[in-house]
Amino acid sequence: MKESLRLARIVVLQLVLGALMIAPVAAQQSDLLDAQQAATSAGLDYYFPGSASFLSDIPSPEQFLGYPIGSFHTRHDQIVSYMKELAERSDRATYQEIGMTYERRPMPVLTVTTPANHVKLDEIRRLHLAASGPDGDVDSAAGVPVIVHLGYGVHGNETSSSEAAMLTAYWLVAGTGEVEDYLSDGVFFVEPNLNPDGRDRHTWWANLNRAEPMVADPLDREHNEVWPGGRTNHYWFDLNRDWLPLVNPESRARIDWHQRWRPNVVTDFHEMGASSTYFFEPSEPVGSWNPLLPEEIYTDITMRFADDWAAALDSLGSLYFTKEVYDNSYPGYGSTYPNFLGGLGLVFEQASSRGHIQESTSHGILTFPFAIRNHVRTGLATVRVAVEERQALRAYQHEFFVSALDEAANDPVDGWIFGDPEDVSLNRDFIDLLLRHGIEVYETAEARAVGAHTFEPGSAWVVPSEQPQYRLARSIFERTETFADSVFYDASTWTVSLAYGMPDGEIRAGGLPLGPAVTVVPSRTVPGVPRSSVAYLLDWRDSRAPQALQALQARGVRAEVSTNPFTAATVSGTVALGRGAISMPVVAQTLDADALHAAVAEVSQEVGIPILAAASAYSAAGQDLGSRGFLPVHAPRVLMPIGEGVSGYEAGQIWHLLDQRVRMPITKVDVSDVGRIDWSRYDVLLLVSGDLSFLEGPRLDTLRGWIRDGGTLVAVRGAAAWAARNGLTPNVGPPTVGRAPGEESGEQTSERLDYGRSGDLRGAQAIGGSIWQTDLDLTHPLGFGYTNRSLAVWRDHSFFFELPENPYITVARLTGDPHLSGYVSDQNAARLAGSPSVVADQLGQGSVVLLIDNPNFRGYWRGTNRLLINALFFGDHIRAP
Ligand SMILES: [Zn+2]
Repeated sequence: MKESLRLARIVVLQLVLGALMIAPVAAQQSDLLDAQQAATSAGLDYYFPGSASFLSDIPSPEQFLGYPIGSFHTRHDQIVSYMKELAERSDRATYQEIGMTYERRPMPVLTVTTPANHVKLDEIRRLHLAASGPDGDVDSAAGVPVIVHLGYGVHGNETSSSEAAMLTAYWLVAGTGEVEDYLSDGVFFVEPNLNPDGRDRHTWWANLNRAEPMVADPLDREHNEVWPGGRTNHYWFDLNRDWLPLVNPESRARIDWHQRWRPNVVTDFHEMGASSTYFFEPSEPVGSWNPLLPEEIYTDITMRFADDWAAALDSLGSLYFTKEVYDNSYPGYGSTYPNFLGGLGLVFEQASSRGHIQESTSHGILTFPFAIRNHVRTGLATVRVAVEERQALRAYQHEFFVSALDEAANDPVDGWIFGDPEDVSLNRDFIDLLLRHGIEVYETAEARAVGAHTFEPGSAWVVPSEQPQYRLARSIFERTETFADSVFYDASTWTVSLAYGMPDGEIRAGGLPLGPAVTVVPSRTVPGVPRSSVAYLLDWRDSRAPQALQALQARGVRAEVSTNPFTAATVSGTVALGRGAISMPVVAQTLDADALHAAVAEVSQEVGIPILAAASAYSAAGQDLGSRGFLPVHAPRVLMPIGEGVSGYEAGQIWHLLDQRVRMPITKVDVSDVGRIDWSRYDVLLLVSGDLSFLEGPRLDTLRGWIRDGGTLVAVRGAAAWAARNGLTPNVGPPTVGRAPGEESGEQTSERLDYGRSGDLRGAQAIGGSIWQTDLDLTHPLGFGYTNRSLAVWRDHSFFFELPENPYITVARLTGDPHLSGYVSDQNAARLAGSPSVVADQLGQGSVVLLIDNPNFRGYWRGTNRLLINALFFGDHIRAP
C-alpha cells in the first residue's frame, strides 16, 4: 500500500562493519550466493507446506512458464495464459474477463470450485445474496458455499502478489486432500492482477535489468524504477484509492463484479519497503477504523483469521506486525470497500525485494521467492478459515444489512436530495456513480427547498437513508467533523457530492418527496441542430461543453466566449445563457455555412450536448451577438512537463482530464527534453507539484519572456508556490509554509512534550486532505460556467498565500468560516480562513494562474476541474486590472 521507503542504510552498514570487521563480509558473500541460488530454484516444496500434494495432469506455474516462480517477473499476458490453461485443463476452474484496461489488457478472474458447484453457480449466487441480505434466512443457507475473492497486485510494482496468485490458483485447481473439501464449501475467485498496465511497466523494468548472477545492491538499476514506476495505472492513478470514485475502467469493472457477488472475504495483497517484514490485519485500533462500519468487523470477524495467519508465518520463521501503520477507513481502498458490502476486506503487506534479490537493512538479503511464499501461505490460511467460518461470515453479512437499516431508521437524516439544474451531464454522471454502488435513487416528486437550494422535479433526485446501502450512501454525502484520531495515513474525508460540486442537502423533516425509482441513468435526447444564418450557441454550464468546444475547434470552427449573461433569441425560442456561453458566428469562419452547420450538428450528437441555433443577433435581453462582450477563443496548444521529480499523480490527473473528459491532445514533454522546447509552438504551460528546477536558471528567463509575450502559465498546488517564489507573479508574494507547534516563525515554545508523542503532534498539524468552502468570482474568466459563488475545494498541503493587494485577481478565496469536511487542527483552520485558493495574475501580455488547491484530486473533483479547463481556453484574456 505504501510506496517503498528507501531508508538510509549506509550508516547502519558502517556500524555493522565497524563492529565486526571481517566476519560480516564473508557472511555477506555466502548470503549473496544463498540468495542467488534461492531466487532461481524455488520449487513447489519451497512454496507449499509439506502436506500439499497435486494432480499430475495440471501444469504448475513453473512447468507452464518454463522457469521457477521467483526467478523472473511474470508478464501479465503470461499470467492470463496460465489462468486460461488451468481452466482448460480442469473442471474445477472457469476463466473470464471482467473488463479491459486503458492499454487494452484484459482483467482476468479464475473461478474455482467443485464441478458440481460450477453447474449451479447462478443458483449459488442467488441463494448467497438472498441469505445475506436484510430479509435473509442464514440458517436455511447452511449448505451454500462461502464466496471468497482473492485479489492481487493493485499496485503494479508490488509484484510478489501476482506470482503468489498463480501458485494459489494452482493449489486450488490441482491440489488434492484438504483443498477438495474447501472447494465444495467455497467459491473462490482468483483475480491475479488488479492493475495489468502498471504491472507490465514494472515487470518490463525488473526483467530488463535482471542480471545473472543476480545483484542484491539496492543501488542497482534493477531496484530503482524510472518515473512513473509501475505502482499506478495508465494515467498514473492509484487504483487503491479508486474503489469509491470509480474514475477508471479497472475500478468500474471491479465494482460491478463485487456488487454482483458481494463476497464474504476479499484479499488485497501488497508490498511495502524492503526493510520491513510482513503486515496482516487487525489494523490499528479505532483511529484507522471506519466509524460507519459495525465494530465487530474489526474486533471479531477479522480476529477469527489472525491466529491462522500468525501460525502460517510462524511456521516459516517469517516476522510480521499487526495493529500499526495501515489505515482501514476510506471506502476507496480495496481492503475497505468490501466491508461496505458486508464482507471482510483484508490487506496483506510484504516487504518488497523490488527486483529479484535485494539487501535489506534489517533482515539480510530479501529474495523474490521469500516474498512470494509469505503471500502464498497467508492466502492458503485465508481460504481455510473462510471455509471454516462460512456460517459466521454469512450471518455477519446478514446482520450488516439489518443493522444498516436500523441505523438508517435512527439517523436524523431521512435522505439526501441533489441535482444541478444547469448541468445535465454532471447529474447523469453522479447518478451513474450511485447506481454502480448499488445505492437506491428516486426521482423528486415535488419541489423542495433545503439550505441554499430549491430542488425541482426533473433536475433533482432523492437518496433515502433507509436502504441496504445506507453506509455507502452516507459516505458519499456526509460531511465529517469528528475524528477518533488526529493523524491520518491518507485523506480524512471523501465527500463525493462536494467533490462533484453537486448541489445537495440533507432532508431531516417533512418526509421524502419520492417519485419513481431510478434504475438506469436518465437518457438525454439531444435534438438536431437547426440551421442558423447568424450563429450557433453552446451553454458552457454543462460539464460536457469543453469536450464539445474542443471537438468544434478541432474541426476548424471559430468560437467566441461571452463575458456577460444574455438571453438569446434562438430558432427554438429565447434561452437564458450565462457567462462563458460559446458563440460560433456564421460569418468570419473559414468553413462555409454548410460545413459549419454539419460540424456543429455532428459534434452535438457525438458529445451528447445540445447546440442552439440563433434566430437573430439581437438578444432578447443583455448583450447582442455582435457585442464587444464576446472575446475570441483560440484552440489552446498545451504543454505539460512530466518525468522524474514531477508529481505523477497530479500530472496524471490532468492528462486523464484532458484525454478522457475533454478529448484534447496535449504535449507531455519529459523534463530531460525541456531544453528542446520551441516555445512559440505553445499557448499554455501546465505545471504541477514537484522538483521544478528544470525550469530555473537561464530557462526561467525564457519562461518569463514567453509569458510576457502572451503565454499562459497554469500552476497547480506546489507549482503555484514555485511560480510565486520565482517572481512570475508581480502581484502575488511567495507563500509561507505551515510548521509544527514550536516551530512557528522561529518562536520558541516553553511547552515541554513527551518525545514519544512527537510523531502524533506533527501529524496533527499536517493538512492531510480536507474540504473547504471558497467564494468564487463568477465574473472572472476562470469562473465562467459556474452558477454558484460557493465552491468546495480540496486542500492537502500546508503552504498559505497572503491575500493579494490587487482586489481583482483573487478568483476564489476561502470564506471566513470555511471548514466543510475532514480533519484540520484549530491552528491551521485559523490560517486557512480568508486565504486565497485561486489567483490569476498578469505578467506582461501573459497570465499566470495559481491553482493553489489541486483542482483534479483523484480525478473525481469535477467541481473544481472546470477552473483548469477555463484557464486553458480563456487564460489569454486574463488581466490584472
Ligand atoms: Zn500497495
